[in-house]
Amino acid sequence: MSQHPLPENLHIDTLAVRAAVDRSQYGENSEAMYLTSGYVQPDAETAARRFAGEEEGYTYSRLGNPTVTSFEMRLAAMEGAEACVATSTGMSAILLMCLGLLKSGDHVICSHSLFGSTIKLIGSEFAKFGVQTSYVSQTNVAEWQAAMQPNTRLLFAETPTNPLTDVCDIQALADIAHAGNALLVVDNCFATPILQRPLSMGADLVVHSGTKYLDGQGRVMAGALCGSKTLIEDVFGTVMRSAGMTLSPFNAWVVLKGLETLSIRMQAQSQQALALAQWLEAQPQVARVYYPGLKSHPQHALAMKQQSGLGGAVLSFEVKANTPEQGRENAFKLMNATRMVSLSTNLGDVKTLVAHPASTSHGRLSEAQRQVAGIQQGLIRVAVGLEHLEDLKADFTRGFQAL
Ligand SMILES: *Cc1c(COP(=O)(O)O)cnc(C)c1O
Repeated sequence: MSQHPLPENLHIDTLAVRAAVDRSQYGENSEAMYLTSGYVQPDAETAARRFAGEEEGYTYSRLGNPTVTSFEMRLAAMEGAEACVATSTGMSAILLMCLGLLKSGDHVICSHSLFGSTIKLIGSEFAKFGVQTSYVSQTNVAEWQAAMQPNTRLLFAETPTNPLTDVCDIQALADIAHAGNALLVVDNCFATPILQRPLSMGADLVVHSGTKYLDGQGRVMAGALCGSKTLIEDVFGTVMRSAGMTLSPFNAWVVLKGLETLSIRMQAQSQQALALAQWLEAQPQVARVYYPGLKSHPQHALAMKQQSGLGGAVLSFEVKANTPEQGRENAFKLMNATRMVSLSTNLGDVKTLVAHPASTSHGRLSEAQRQVAGIQQGLIRVAVGLEHLEDLKADFTRGFQAL
């Protein structure tokens, strides 16, 4: 159906609901979902041209699907990227990125505090193929610089990090990467394009787990890579055709609709997280709160500049304890005494989720490794949702009263 082209220079909130709307002959206002694995070709000549890449047109959903394309184009518009490729999960986006960019003998620099499965994938699985990895402090730019080697291909950063919300300087890392002919990849899962657009600060690629805030209601798994047309279409598109970590059209439709409310959710959940963080800082049983929106956060100024003045929706706090055993016991007591918040290691939901990193996401580390990473036994991570603030405070108060 004929559509007017969108006006230029739209704001991100508008792009979230208006970019890449694809209407069929029926003119539906909400995007249609194309649940099909294959496409009927009008004639044999067209099929031949489409398979040869000489003509646009869908052939098979591993190679492309209109619902998946809508999600890719909308997310690309929001990240300020030329192009985007959607994947089945956040991890398969990172796998695709590695398959496309790394070869035997290459070197990668990662922060210590990357998502655990990312460290496992690059540091262990790709080590089998001769890829070497160095780990550096998230916040110390000099360490990233010192780790550069002639064969460094990638710098991989995530900001803010999970669960301690450390913030790194995207612009500074991009400069280091480019001076050494390497690429900077940023996992933008926690901030989302609403708070932070890494490509505008010099990053070459953005990685997403669509499972988190892009969906926003904890329903489906999804992932994406956003960047230049050359990288997305020529490098990753080629790998994707054979490797097949394709996003299903159903999941694409869910995250496409999720994007429409991303702006309002990120703003509301960030404001709620700030209010809860300030309240937690004032509780006598709390030793420390980690949240980029707090003045006490070591990278508060950088975070406010880099993240549109918002801290995001994830915070962590440590309950007071004299020993690690007591810290763990207190964290467990507190979590078990709540009656509303969900005990879940996921994040990015409108329901508030609490988790104990030392026994779950970081449970496979030794106590010494956890100390280096700064994950204390008394640490609780909160992915703040949309419940009323007073109800959240009341639930955590039930937790504190159990100590
Ligand atoms: C969840 C997560 C991932 C992995 O995404 P999946 O969709 O679970 O595969 C990657 N990075 C970060 C920061 C995450 O929180």
